[in-house]
Amino acid sequence: MARPLIAHIDLEALRHNYRLACSLAPASGAVAVLKADGYGHGAVACARALEGTAPAFAVACIEEAVTLREAGISLPIVLLEGIFEAGELEQVETLGLWMAVHSDWQVEALLAHRLARPIPVWLKVDSGMHRLGFSPERAEAVWRRLAAAPTHACDLHLMSHFATADRVDTGYFAGQMARLEVLAERLGAPLCLANSPATLARAEAHGAWNRPGVMLYGSDPLEHANEASRRLAPVMTLRSAIIAVRELPAGEPVGYGGRWITPRPSRIGVVACGYGDGYDRHAVDGTPVLVAGRRTAIAGKVSMDMLTVDITDIPDADIGSEVVLWGRAANGEVLSVDEVARCCDTISYTLLTGVLPRVPRRYHG
Ligand SMILES: *Cc1c(COP(=O)(O)O)cnc(C)c1O
Repeated sequence: MARPLIAHIDLEALRHNYRLACSLAPASGAVAVLKADGYGHGAVACARALEGTAPAFAVACIEEAVTLREAGISLPIVLLEGIFEAGELEQVETLGLWMAVHSDWQVEALLAHRLARPIPVWLKVDSGMHRLGFSPERAEAVWRRLAAAPTHACDLHLMSHFATADRVDTGYFAGQMARLEVLAERLGAPLCLANSPATLARAEAHGAWNRPGVMLYGSDPLEHANEASRRLAPVMTLRSAIIAVRELPAGEPVGYGGRWITPRPSRIGVVACGYGDGYDRHAVDGTPVLVAGRRTAIAGKVSMDMLTVDITDIPDADIGSEVVLWGRAANGEVLSVDEVARCCDTISYTLLTGVLPRVPRRYHG
């Protein structure tokens, strides 16, 4: 039998989550964000699954756009960070990409480049994230300069990114929003602002376009789930099986360093999944897993190829029993990747993008 660890990708769930993003913002277009290989799900497969539904995709860099074009994806693709050097403009043009412009050198490169057709540009404003973009004060002049160069830039949009749209406390978000509204009003600019949390919970940020990412993969980015985020369906199920069982008396340490000690006579299931597959080694004792569709917990440190779970209270669990590290079990039980992430002191984004190539992907739907 082959090693049982597989990342199952439910493309119907992806489409469901995409449709949810659209239904929450019916006046906006939703650019499906497929960067980092579709948050670890396989960008090409996700793009093909959404091709009939989504009008455009977004990636972080031209290499990711090339991968999609080489797979035959012909829809518009936005470069969220634009070009990294002037030499990329030729490819932007020939591949028919849209691009963010966040820095003076990108503006100069664009205006200096000889183009057959203008490039759709999303001008990035730093409204408070303080990462990429022009300050609201500078953005106006840059916008007017690009608007005056219709042979180089077309379909201008104002783009910005929120630092705290996931929080219950909306104070900082409101400040970012207020700066953007003033600027958009003055320029008559269409907006592209909303990431997943803003798509789910901040209707005032819905613009001409939204940019949902992690929610498409079924992760809930909100600090407190809302009615909409509870409707998200997990796309990835990281599924394996028990490959060995240990029966131990009370007081026996399990795994490297003996971090976990059996508190009672215990049955330990050894699972084929470890940090060499991308499962986070920071997972604490008690991190949830589903064994035969029932919740139990990690017991002992995660090793490279294996981890150990307490199956004392699941007497029918045995060699070959299904283990779901996150996602949906065969009996329908769901373990959210967000919950696992909290037990690893991280976020779903790192777990999903961190599933390593050793783990085969299997696509459904
Ligand atoms: C990654 C990214 C998004 C999507 O963010 P999520 O939190 O995954 O929805 C949106 N906009 C930009 C600029 C990004 O880099």
